[in-house]
Amino acid sequence: MTTAHQQMPPTAAFRFDNSYARDLPGFYVARRPEVVPGPRLLFLNHSLAAELGLDLAALDTPARAAIFAGNTVPEGAEPLAQAYAGHQFGGFSPQLGDGRALLLGEVIDRQGRRRDIALKGSGRTPFARGGDGKAAVGPMLREVLVGEAMHALGIPTTRALAVAATGEDVYRERVLPGAVLTRVAASHIRIGTFQFVAARGDVDSLRKLAEYTIARHDPALATAPTPQRFLALLRNVVERQAALVAQWMNVGFIHGVMNTDNMTLSGETIDYGPCAFMEAHDPTTVFSSIDHQGRYAFGNQPNIAGWNLARLAETLLPLLSDDTGQAVALATEVLAAFPVQYRRHLLRGQRAKLGLHGPREGEPDDDSGDGDDAALADDWLALLQAGRVDFTLGWRRLADAAAGDEAPLRALFADPRAPDAWLARWRERLANEDAGESDSAQDGPAIAGLERARAMRGVNPIVIARNHRVEEALAAASDNGDLAPFERLLDALRQPYDESPGSAPYAEPAPAAVTAAYQTFCGT
Ligand code: AMP
Ligand code: MG
Repeated sequence: MTTAHQQMPPTAAFRFDNSYARDLPGFYVARRPEVVPGPRLLFLNHSLAAELGLDLAALDTPARAAIFAGNTVPEGAEPLAQAYAGHQFGGFSPQLGDGRALLLGEVIDRQGRRRDIALKGSGRTPFARGGDGKAAVGPMLREVLVGEAMHALGIPTTRALAVAATGEDVYRERVLPGAVLTRVAASHIRIGTFQFVAARGDVDSLRKLAEYTIARHDPALATAPTPQRFLALLRNVVERQAALVAQWMNVGFIHGVMNTDNMTLSGETIDYGPCAFMEAHDPTTVFSSIDHQGRYAFGNQPNIAGWNLARLAETLLPLLSDDTGQAVALATEVLAAFPVQYRRHLLRGQRAKLGLHGPREGEPDDDSGDGDDAALADDWLALLQAGRVDFTLGWRRLADAAAGDEAPLRALFADPRAPDAWLARWRERLANEDAGESDSAQDGPAIAGLERARAMRGVNPIVIARNHRVEEALAAASDNGDLAPFERLLDALRQPYDESPGSAPYAEPAPAAVTAAYQTFCGT
């Protein structure tokens, strides 16, 4: 038998250019993935492969499985385990690093963007400590589902390129089938990467890392003078995280483990462990079974992001000024902007979700969330919370109300009249906006309402990765090798704004008892 991969190296698929390996010696340990007994491809992200310009057609099925399980190291890859430190649940570990992950290398995608290709679950590395270096099918497929859901919602995220079963057992609370995830990221540089060198007092390496990060994520700063460009890097990271966390908050996403090693400089969401979308709106919702203090609860995520950014700022102090007092003053000013930027991003998103085209007449677009629209949004969220209304459906049914049908929204409340006062305020605000816009005034209120509803349905999803659906899909895949529920759910998550008979089963919240028990299921 002659197969494609015998005729050409299986590696023709990737064109690696490995800047991290080249530019940052001392930040990693070279390491090869472990060979596994039974590679089998469970998931391959064809659209992402196309975006990356990968020539997967050159590989037959066994060749693909061998690459994505780690048995074949593609030509041009320089697999390495990255070193990093991190604050985990508030406590500092000076050395964490990739215990079970390897960066294979980087490719330049079709749009000219440099993307990391990394394996997760590919065996022990020198950073594995007590861990087995492995990953199980369920949690790796969870990364696929939640990452693709986030991507479809327009939220910056790492993405899954492939998941391959390994054919070996992984020992957790019970025996589970093993898997390797191939993850694509703008980079894997984390706050913890900066903490790793800062903790060693190695300022030269710190500067190298900062320059590398600027070249990769903020190339416009590369010509800015030193030391201002390091402060500008901090400012940009703060801005990216403010935008990111605001997006999380506007879809009810709970990361679950916002340790500093799980927060990127690129501004992408990374490391989907005990993460989930909130159902009934409650800021105290927690999904990590070990998060007893609620450190990473839904409503605490902006605070924690600010706290993590302060840890990043601390690492950068030696680069900001020779005068420590001056460096602290500069960094403090940038950090102080975080809550303001966060509220600005949040409010911009909330206005769209409320069906508003922009700020009130005379109000600046960059207001920091102290105005009447912010109060309108806050009171809406308080209403959802008081009624324990499903966060996603609450927003979505507001679009129906904009189109003139309040019944579906009212049906979400035990007392259908509960939203009366708030709806009156909202309608007044909408009427006010329409009066200021001659187009809608000419078309009449009915047309304006339908157009508004359409716009609202484009920003308020009907399908999110609901816990019970995710668990159901992962259990079928992990326990029975049945990937059909996973594939159906993935299809629905990729069209989060489409309300159709096909999406209906994925739009309904779980029964309350299932939600209450959910956090005990979470694991990585
Ligand atoms: P995470 O909570 O997934 O961000 O991981 C925190 C740290 O633990 C990282 O350094 C991981 O590489 C490491 N780690 C997690 N699970 C394992 C495992 N099964 N084997 C080795 N290292 C692991
Ligand atoms: Mg991590």
